[in-house]
Amino acid sequence: MAANILLVEDEPAIQELIAFNLTQAGHHVLRASTAEAALTLVKNALPDLILLDWMLPGASGIDIAKKLRADERTRAIPIIMLTARSDEQDKIVGLESGADDYITKPFSPRELLARIKAVLRRRAPQMTDDAVEVQGLRLDPITHRVTSLGQPIDLGPTEFRLLHFFMTHPERVHSRSQLLDQVWGDHVFVEERTVDVHIRRLRSALEATRHDDLIQTVRGTGYRFSTQQ
Ligand code: CA
Repeated sequence: MAANILLVEDEPAIQELIAFNLTQAGHHVLRASTAEAALTLVKNALPDLILLDWMLPGASGIDIAKKLRADERTRAIPIIMLTARSDEQDKIVGLESGADDYITKPFSPRELLARIKAVLRRRAPQMTDDAVEVQGLRLDPITHRVTSLGQPIDLGPTEFRLLHFFMTHPERVHSRSQLLDQVWGDHVFVEERTVDVHIRRLRSALEATRHDDLIQTVRGTGYRFSTQQ
């Protein structure tokens, strides 16, 4: 499960080590050394998960977690706190501030990756058969139908899966490689530009009702499904 992970850690050596291990495991890593930098990155695009150091210069990890939990847009981002503290009381404070999990330094890369996987699995939107609806665009996995304000929209199977993925993972940037992972599954023989072809088809199918605007190109990075322009 490849994810966009925001790593907030002010100690360069630890930041480097964690980023290296996450990248090796196939994750895409964004880095910040301060609360301010972290919040700017989150404002730009929602990560799938945040690794948050407790002790940061200026605002603490706890402050950041509270801020993210208080905002509708960022409320659901999974957070794992990183800390040198192992005190039980601190752990409680960390979890109460909104962290999903807690990991005490020093930790092994293997332990960290396992925790990330567990949190992602727990917090990832379920790939259930629930119908999803955004601005009058409705997708029903059971009947395999897409409608806009009640009018049917004809989509190919790949475009359908792509739209379903976008609608259940809105407001974050997905690279072509991540879309291949999530929508195509085993993509060893699929080229990244295939994604662009299907995005074009999907947009064109949604054009009549102007829902094509929901699928945004993020230059140099990939695509994002968003109701914000
Ligand atoms: Ca620190």
